[in-house]
Amino acid sequence: MIIIAGVSPKTKILDQNPRRCPLCGLHQAYFKRVDHYLSFFFIPLLRVKKGNPFIMCDRCQKTVPEFEPDISQQTGDRPKTCHYCKMSLDQDFKYCPYCGKRI
Ligand SMILES: [Zn+2]
Ligand SMILES: [Zn+2]
Repeated sequence: MIIIAGVSPKTKILDQNPRRCPLCGLHQAYFKRVDHYLSFFFIPLLRVKKGNPFIMCDRCQKTVPEFEPDISQQTGDRPKTCHYCKMSLDQDFKYCPYCGKRI
């Protein structure tokens, strides 16, 4: 007799945007989650176990435990610019080194 009902894992990609893999440096790491479904005739019927999200690189086939924050999405302090000549300046400048005006 063939067992047709059973619990099988199903990989779900949570985020279609690839992240940079710190191991290979390519943007081929995806946020995934493995859920376990009770399937019957190979059709998943019921989710029996919800997995923890993880990041896995498609190239390395390795899970990445922690990712450095994406530099392109960082919203830090805006760079200070001179009001007069619009040159970008260091935060602690009192006078613009380009045009000599006080900031
Ligand atoms: Zn990789
Ligand atoms: Zn200036």
